[in-house]
Amino acid sequence: MLNSSRRKVKIVCTLGPSSNTREKIEKLVRAGLDTARLNFSHGTHEVHRGLFQAVRDAATSAGKHVGVLQDLQGPKLRVGKLSQGGIQLKAGDEVLLYPEGTDPRSSTTGRIAIPISAEIAEPLSKDVRKGSRILFDDGKIWSEVKEVHPPEMVVTVSVGGKLTSNKGMNLPGTPLSLPCVTDKDLKDLKLGLELGVDSVALSFVRNPKDIQTVRDQIRKNSNHHPLLVAKIEREEAVYAPEGILEVTDGILIARGDMAVELGAEKVPIVQKMLIRMSNELGVPVITATQMLESMISSPTPTRAEASDVANAVFDGTDAVMLSAESASGEYPVEAVETMARIVLEAESETKYSVHANLIPVSGSIVESIEFSASRIATHVGATAIACLTHSGTAARTLAKYRPETPIVAIMDSAASLRRLSFVWGVDGVLIPELVATDDLFGMVSRVLVDHQRAEEEDLIVVTAGVPSLGRGTTNTVKVHQVKLKNETKDSKRSVR
Ligand code: PGA
Ligand code: MN
Repeated sequence: MLNSSRRKVKIVCTLGPSSNTREKIEKLVRAGLDTARLNFSHGTHEVHRGLFQAVRDAATSAGKHVGVLQDLQGPKLRVGKLSQGGIQLKAGDEVLLYPEGTDPRSSTTGRIAIPISAEIAEPLSKDVRKGSRILFDDGKIWSEVKEVHPPEMVVTVSVGGKLTSNKGMNLPGTPLSLPCVTDKDLKDLKLGLELGVDSVALSFVRNPKDIQTVRDQIRKNSNHHPLLVAKIEREEAVYAPEGILEVTDGILIARGDMAVELGAEKVPIVQKMLIRMSNELGVPVITATQMLESMISSPTPTRAEASDVANAVFDGTDAVMLSAESASGEYPVEAVETMARIVLEAESETKYSVHANLIPVSGSIVESIEFSASRIATHVGATAIACLTHSGTAARTLAKYRPETPIVAIMDSAASLRRLSFVWGVDGVLIPELVATDDLFGMVSRVLVDHQRAEEEDLIVVTAGVPSLGRGTTNTVKVHQVKLKNETKDSKRSVR
């Protein structure tokens, strides 16, 4: 069978020192990378510019449509620069948090003074109350607010540890007034728009407005409109995702910060809830963080990690993500290969997958066509569903119904094709121009055969907007048998 080994769940790889050249990235692409993530929590603009170009070059050499996801840092709270390699904190210690670059005003007598970014100190001190919890270093060190003297705060340590420079801070249970997009994010976004990234992830999204604000800003200032991906990691977003799912182009289940904010025990259920809700709305969802964590320093995964990746597949995720494994680990290529193998194996056992059994949104023609195409393709045993689409919407809609039959999106825009690089099951074929011809189905047959997605005599299912193939015109589903031996001259001409 032609398409039997094609993976449906996509792989997102974070780039970094272990994957920072065209050669290294090309190896990752050949191992299974579908989307490259540029993590703007680290690295200069010069570094990201280089990574972006390296991805585009690697994709060209590998002959694959790789997407670039720009991940903005967002209002990640961090401690400032600490002297002498860090400070040992123990239970009962009183710590004064003060804006970096100023002298602590409140009494430091008997207290340890720790600077935090001046940008966040003032708003933060207004959001916290006596008793608010502040965690440091991914939740390893715990403290509680004792006094607030804006912009300074005094906390009492309850679980100690060694705190070093730039470590993260989390405030579980405290709604923050800090905007989801900081000044740094705006500068980074400007670079992303200039480079032409395919999608932008927003960290610590709280509500739909956070996404709308960025979307409006992009529309106002740029002709390039990347997809927006909401990272779900704050309590406000976890407990009210409906509105966010309505306005976003995708979500990322950011299990790292989420575990600190909510407690690790909540993560599995939240993951299942978010995947189910996204699947029902056809919103692509990326499951992220620590999926193959031990592969940062080991060539093989733990059993728990293999299960974690497979379970995300069974839950119905569109994509799975590697963070440090591919960015700074010792085995980036092995991590991608391992992830791809686990995904393929999990996909071979469909009986364990969660099936949403969706019914098309009433009144929508594209929903109705793609839903039917999915059913028909299974029923007639088609080799592929060819989806002729300009923007990719029809292919994304088809993916929502999770057809067993491979989806081949036939498109004439590489940029639109790259926007499908974290959507479940969509395999793209780029053709020079998507225009109506007298022998449309002969043309589709030719494209599928030329790209080894179908063979002579195969049944294929085609969805398209007939007769014009114009934007947003999907209205047709056809079962077609590939018969190129008798093809008309016209169908040959249409693709050559
Ligand atoms: P981050 O997001 O790596 O940018 O923090 C992912 C997460 O929090 O899990
Ligand atoms: Mn995060």
